[in-house]
Amino acid sequence: MNASKYLNNGRKNLAAIALAIGSTLPLAATLVPTNAEAAAPQVRTQAPGYYRMMLGDFEVTAISDGTVTIPLDKLLRHISLPEMKNLLSRGNLGMQAETSINTFLINTGTQLVLVDAGAGRLFGPSAGGQLVQNLRAAGYRPEDIDVVLLTHIHGDHSGGLTIDGKAVFPNAVIRVDKHESEFWLDAGNEKMVEPAERHSFADAAASLAPYLASGRIQPFESGSELMPGIRAVPAPGHTPGHSLYEIESRGQKLVLWGDLIHAKDVQLSRPDVTVQFDVSETGAAAQRKKILAAAARSDAWVAGAHIAFPGIGRIRQEGNGRYAWAPVNYSLAGLDAGQHVAKALDSAAKVIPPFLKRPESRNYAAKANFCFWVMPPMAMLGRS
Ligand SMILES: [Zn+2]
Repeated sequence: MNASKYLNNGRKNLAAIALAIGSTLPLAATLVPTNAEAAAPQVRTQAPGYYRMMLGDFEVTAISDGTVTIPLDKLLRHISLPEMKNLLSRGNLGMQAETSINTFLINTGTQLVLVDAGAGRLFGPSAGGQLVQNLRAAGYRPEDIDVVLLTHIHGDHSGGLTIDGKAVFPNAVIRVDKHESEFWLDAGNEKMVEPAERHSFADAAASLAPYLASGRIQPFESGSELMPGIRAVPAPGHTPGHSLYEIESRGQKLVLWGDLIHAKDVQLSRPDVTVQFDVSETGAAAQRKKILAAAARSDAWVAGAHIAFPGIGRIRQEGNGRYAWAPVNYSLAGLDAGQHVAKALDSAAKVIPPFLKRPESRNYAAKANFCFWVMPPMAMLGRS
């Protein structure tokens, strides 16, 4: 069928009807199909998975490794199914929860630091594995990365280090708490985790292999200052060497939480709820209570590997041992922080000396005008 012929015939018919019933042309126009309503194929792709913010002088980019759907009714512990269902429904989630896998890239101005590396191919083709394409979309290449900091060595944080036996980040050193690498690189510890989690030892060995072979695994002592503005904070429990990373620049702070939280809508209300992946459930619950309380007292940003992308926000106290999540407000203007000041000072450096040299600016009135109209706004920019 020729669609345009059909539309033309339709227009004639509707116009005739409108005239016959004494209606007006605007009514006919609203009833007539137009080309704008023609079927367009649905696209069904998501926007590139990165979100950027400035933290003082540091550029922070949350980079998505994609998502993985996990059965929370099978994985969460110490909570009844009705309570879990109720808490999840408040966050628009069911028991099968599509869960973000987030990594974070910090450009300090001198180093490019990636925190966690996603799952790579460990979860198969339909979950995770999107870090590299999203890193490229965000303007960086895997070979640009200088340092990868691991919050811990579970597969969804270290699997993306290595694909087909090759290092994905060929120029990076890998830094991790020494308790973490010692634990997962010793298969003798297998009995310390549940049978369902024992594959993590083989996964860890495979993911770290090319970096071990080239001497680029550099474990650190718990609580080390790793470089100016980046410090590791031990938070053992989920795994023996699980670490947070505190990122700080010009008084602004972001604490990268790793796996402190797996199900935000449940564990912010019930921090005592644990997950099958915890090597020590009591240790993990104690860390969560302590760190949530500290986050609620602080105005630092926090970010989680499994909080809905980009996973950056702040924690608010909600009541007795309960907390709420305040996600970062989507911002474009915030990316310019500091840059407008630098541009203003650059412009001032170009404009002021030539102006003062010009013969007419020896005139007192011109100088007064300049001082009145130009210098105060520049001074205000410099202060902001
Ligand atoms: Zn994880």
